[in-house]
Amino acid sequence: MMPDVTSESTKLRPWTGDRAPASWGLGDGQAIPWEYAPAPESREIVRLKERYGLFIDGREVQASDGAVFPTVNPATEDKLADVARATPADVDRAIRAAGRAQKRRWGSLPGRERAKYLFRIARLLQERSREFAVLETMDSGKPIKESRDVDVPLAAAHFWYYAGWADKLEYAFPGRVARPLGVAAQVIPWNFPLLMLSWKIAPALAAGNTVVLKPASTTPLSALLFADVCRQADLPPGVVNIVPGPAQIGMHLVSSPSVQKVAFTGSTEVGKLIHKATAGTDKAITLELGGKAANIVFEDAALDQAVEGIVNGIYFNQGEVCCAGSRLLAQESIVEPLVEKLKDRLATMRVGDPLDKNTDVGAINSRQQLEKITELVEAGVAEGADIYQPPCDLPDRGWFFRPTLFTNVAQSHRIAKEEIFGPVLSVLTFRTPDEAIEKANNTPYGLSAGVWTEKGSRILAMVRRLKAGVVWANTFNRFDPTSPFGGYKESGFGREGGMHGLHAYVRLEDR
Ligand code: NDP
Repeated sequence: MMPDVTSESTKLRPWTGDRAPASWGLGDGQAIPWEYAPAPESREIVRLKERYGLFIDGREVQASDGAVFPTVNPATEDKLADVARATPADVDRAIRAAGRAQKRRWGSLPGRERAKYLFRIARLLQERSREFAVLETMDSGKPIKESRDVDVPLAAAHFWYYAGWADKLEYAFPGRVARPLGVAAQVIPWNFPLLMLSWKIAPALAAGNTVVLKPASTTPLSALLFADVCRQADLPPGVVNIVPGPAQIGMHLVSSPSVQKVAFTGSTEVGKLIHKATAGTDKAITLELGGKAANIVFEDAALDQAVEGIVNGIYFNQGEVCCAGSRLLAQESIVEPLVEKLKDRLATMRVGDPLDKNTDVGAINSRQQLEKITELVEAGVAEGADIYQPPCDLPDRGWFFRPTLFTNVAQSHRIAKEEIFGPVLSVLTFRTPDEAIEKANNTPYGLSAGVWTEKGSRILAMVRRLKAGVVWANTFNRFDPTSPFGGYKESGFGREGGMHGLHAYVRLEDR
């Protein structure tokens, strides 16, 4: 009989293991699980409005047909607010506003003046960081310690970084003249709403472009709070426009003949549709799509350090990360102690209220995503892999899924091939470096990979042969605004971050 792995059935199961995890305390028979007192972050800093409008030409406006859609808190299933649902006419209006702002003002503003606005935005994001972190956690389900320590600081860092380039484009592209492309159409996903906005908007503005951005329908609120930051920074009207709405609105935006640049982050499936829709036009395009990263652990790696990296690689942000290390490739000689250590570590993870500062794994972003994870985990069990889930209590309401680990996984299993986008790790094994490379590259994706070994020469040899845009060595999921990020194969093309990210928003001409 197939074990029931739905979130409903995994609630409130007491600890039933025959020995307590080593990390709980002193040793067999003496271990006492740590009890954490609740440490909830206050919601008071966020003043939620009942209704949010679109942000077009520097003003908050309602949709032309007056329609709204709700956005809910995935940890409680309660409605947070109603959000204006843009129509195609609204999107066209936003594109016209962006075009006017680009031609009349922003595109011809000296770089040092554009930089002042970007620095101002960065400073405001830092000043309002707690408000952004709490709102992001409420709207997306991610743990507050991640939105507070990763998403918001990195978003501000992107504005600082690209502000620095705005008046130095001639040094970024020596001997060439860097011209803005015009209006950028940007469509972003729900897993890192504010951070993806900053990856897109900061380089676009630094190079003299204006933008129309569509946030994901399940996480529009941080983008709309960012609209408030634009007003506070006195950004000229039309430079940034934000149009929440359904998928068709995203397609209408990227297909418009009046946009010169398209930037998309999301599923490979939608990336292909957008690629088709822009084919045959002269629009510049970057696509950041899915992944199925291999995290490769050699027998000489520091195992305890690797365990932390593996956990961070797949359970960070509930595994809803395009570059998540969802396939663990362990060298055969160490797979047993490694899996034992991982199980111990999983048993210490705190799953629950995303606003609690102790929470490691928060809520899954939507019911639809929870169903997708559940379906793939059931497929893993049905195909014969061995499932392990630590016994931990899950809240009664909201969309939660236990951290999950599969052993005895074959490369043909769906859980080894498909992007699950959830807290689910598949463990595979290898004997030689050649076998590790072959298995790691045996995927249509090519976004990221990890290598764990004490030998620098082995790291360099592996990095050369791995078909992935980013390879981390003895760490995982590290991000920095100065470092380019992007994929190969079905993970998309183009780079965001660093000078490469700037390059995607300029047209280079001879002097
Ligand atoms: P999507 O790719 O559908 O959504 C990403 C963004 O694209 C959202 O703003 C969405 O709008 C918009 N969109 C959806 N369809 C279209 C379209 N036809 N034309 C233009 N824009 C569109 O991801 P999902 O939210 O549906 O997630 C499905 C799967 O995709 C996940 O399970 C995961 O595997 C993967 N994914 C990968 C991400 C990554 O970073 N690589 C991020 C998110 C998901 P709306 O929200 O209104 O639908």
